Amino acid sequence: MITINENYLKLQASYLFSDIARRVAKFQQEHPEKNVIKLGIGDVTRGLPPACIAAFHKAIDEMADDSTFHGYGPEQGYDFLREAIASHDFQSRGTEITADEIFVSDGAKCDTGNIQEIFSEDIVIAIPDPVYPVYLDTNVMAGRTGDFVDGRYKDIVYLDCNKENGFVPALPDRPADLIYLCFPNNPTGSTATKEDLQKWVDYARKNKAIILFDAAYEAFIQDSSLPHSIYEIDGAEEVALEFRSFSKSAGFTGTRCAYTVVPKKCVGWDKAGTPHSLHDMWNRRHCTKFNGVSYPVQRAAEAVYSEEGQKQCEELITFYRANAEVVLQTMEGLGYECVGGINSPYIWIDGKMDSWEFFDLLLNKAGVVCTPGAGFGTCGNGYIRISSFNSHENVIAAMKRVKEALR
Ligand code: PLP
Repeated sequence: MITINENYLKLQASYLFSDIARRVAKFQQEHPEKNVIKLGIGDVTRGLPPACIAAFHKAIDEMADDSTFHGYGPEQGYDFLREAIASHDFQSRGTEITADEIFVSDGAKCDTGNIQEIFSEDIVIAIPDPVYPVYLDTNVMAGRTGDFVDGRYKDIVYLDCNKENGFVPALPDRPADLIYLCFPNNPTGSTATKEDLQKWVDYARKNKAIILFDAAYEAFIQDSSLPHSIYEIDGAEEVALEFRSFSKSAGFTGTRCAYTVVPKKCVGWDKAGTPHSLHDMWNRRHCTKFNGVSYPVQRAAEAVYSEEGQKQCEELITFYRANAEVVLQTMEGLGYECVGGINSPYIWIDGKMDSWEFFDLLLNKAGVVCTPGAGFGTCGNGYIRISSFNSHENVIAAMKRVKEALR
């Protein structure tokens, strides 16, 4: 008899975005004349930078000719891209990350979800609340979380992010082995200072823990005092892996390209206390289960680092930032306390009521879709997330309607 991985049965059934889709579909059915504006899901809306498109086309033409065709490439990514990443994203910021510590992939979702495979089943996981659900669900599937009791998995160390701590979690009150951090944060839009991250790096070094640092929204940082990478923090290269993505920085959500940094200094221990290189383990895993990102996509990603590419990506970010500013000004103007929206595309809003109730209010009275904070964890209740990924016209129209509805 084929038996199943019963850990899957512990997953919480109602997936946030399908619940939202169901409520939106019902509203549209009842009000076919209303044009609903969606500021919920974090998907970009603008076309790829022209520099990326030109590189993409050129690479596709190369694929058409026997003499320039590319078959299987290196699983870890082509050197041209790994070197561009190491130089532009890390060495230029004074960190010592090298090209061979970069693993190119088809998404930070897969990487943040898959990385837990190289760690033991019985480690203690610390996860922020609210959180990007992938970190939690992949550990549920792997059997590390225990049962779901009263809204929380009993073996997880939850790192509460709330108004009191400025949505940057405090160190855990019990030992944790694997710590997920994400800054600028999805969903709260909060950022961490160098001092904040230093505390976590010091904790990890002291406790032989590993930090998984998700910097998918790094490109939105405009405050020059904020770190873009955890490797700007002393000692981080011994205890932290970093995840980056071209999805939000260059509009690659549908094109798919991202990367994970696994420094050679990072180790984990076996039961006998012998250290093992996480770089070697991830390399083994990546080469066994992944066959590389396509050549044209990697050429398109490389073009992000060209002079025009950098300029065009900055224009994209500036565009979304202007949307975020409209949302922030509107909601603060209406008297709501907000986080994010300055160094992040997300605005996290204290709705002063249950988050699904606030979601329904915005949908039914304004025809605007947001994301209820409760879908990201217990600490998200009472909040909603508004995303700046839409056209400027739509964001302005949505905020005008929200203003009329909530005034
Ligand atoms: N990490 C965070 C925090 C995200 O919000 C997202 C996407 O929304 C991702 C990772 C996924 O990125 P990718 O498109 O590279 O899979």
